Amino acid sequence: MLGTKEAYLSMGISEKTYEFGASVLEELKPRFEEIDRIAEINQLKVLGAMQKNQVSEACLLGTTGYGYNDLGRDTLEAVYADVFRAESALVRPQITCGTHALALALMSNLRPGDELLSPVGKPYDTLEEVIGIRPSKGSLAEYGVSYRQVDLLEDGSFDFEGIRKAICENTKLVTIQRSKGYQTRPTLSVDRIGQLISFVKSIKPDVICMVDNCYGEFVETIEPSDVGADMVVGSLIKNPGGGLAPIGGYIVGKKECVENAAYRLTSPGLGKEVGASLGILPQFYQGFFLAPTVTAGALKGAIFAANLYERLGFPVVPNGKESRHDIIQAVTFGTPEGVIAFCEGIQSAAPVDSHVTPEPWDMPGYDAKVIMAAGAFVSGSSIELSADGPIKEPYAVYFQGGLTWPHAKFGILKSLERLCEKGLVTL
Ligand SMILES: *Cc1c(COP(=O)(O)O)cnc(C)c1O
Repeated sequence: MLGTKEAYLSMGISEKTYEFGASVLEELKPRFEEIDRIAEINQLKVLGAMQKNQVSEACLLGTTGYGYNDLGRDTLEAVYADVFRAESALVRPQITCGTHALALALMSNLRPGDELLSPVGKPYDTLEEVIGIRPSKGSLAEYGVSYRQVDLLEDGSFDFEGIRKAICENTKLVTIQRSKGYQTRPTLSVDRIGQLISFVKSIKPDVICMVDNCYGEFVETIEPSDVGADMVVGSLIKNPGGGLAPIGGYIVGKKECVENAAYRLTSPGLGKEVGASLGILPQFYQGFFLAPTVTAGALKGAIFAANLYERLGFPVVPNGKESRHDIIQAVTFGTPEGVIAFCEGIQSAAPVDSHVTPEPWDMPGYDAKVIMAAGAFVSGSSIELSADGPIKEPYAVYFQGGLTWPHAKFGILKSLERLCEKGLVTL
């Protein structure tokens, strides 16, 4: 029978790489224990909501056509609402991705003449076109919704004075992005999001506070809706889908906000009453059930990568010691070869398409070539082990996911092995 080390050696990890990884892991035990503690609490939270709402075998069946009286769909939405301690939820396969969910939440709750404010700087790339920061067909700007932005201060703190000045009579909705996305600012903790919401509401109590929760679900034991967010929005091919949801997005929050979103998703007058779930509910339920532990595995992977590459002298964001509020890890290699080798290593560790070699390509919407590593069961899923890096200064990769901790660990060791093979790192 193979021991642990022998199992890694049989999968192409050298003894040196394995031992280096093991020495890094030695110091991470207390952090991993804390992650397991959070996963335990979140697992009970999800289970409790499923039991309270009496999820039954009948809920796993789907509807077709209009989808009237879809018990499984409506019960799943009640489960989401309870987990997020929100009044209502919209959880649908008809929401095609995270950007769509965010666009839906914004477009359904804003009217011509309203202003949208981001008090945390520039939002995620794809939202620039939704808002109309980059002119785009069908953007909020085209419908007469204006946009204002207040950047974070140099040290990453909120510019409270700037935010106070930016809130005006027309400010209807404030959008707060939890994760740093592809920026270098720190990710916001739920606690900090709560402070920001309180501040905004102290100036204008009726403003709608929306949080882009992508990559943040189940990283902490509370969610933004626990600290005053009126709407919380995310993608099911990230954390809450648990790797099983093959599509989908969610919006949870105040009843009125969620209703507005439902009327926009389907039609005025129809709202949440239509929208067949087809055959997808078992994956939505089971994925949500697994999401707390899947997220924990991905977090361990991110922390392992941060500490391993930090020890080798590469800048990492967040650093090895920092507390975590999302599952994304950035590692700066400083050279194109480093970025490429890292992605090759991640790809070669995949359960699907491990035999293909990723190459930098001209992706639409980007100003430099981008290399992506993803060998996922669900195409484009970033709760599965994945990495991407633009081939430009500072030559950083963004790495996330891992459906299980052992797989995330193996992928990171594979990336290091590849960097060693190419002579970019010497252990
Ligand atoms: C992924 C992501 C989005 C967009 O989600 P897609 O599913 O890729 O459209 C929006 N905001 C943040 C912070 C994200 O990480």
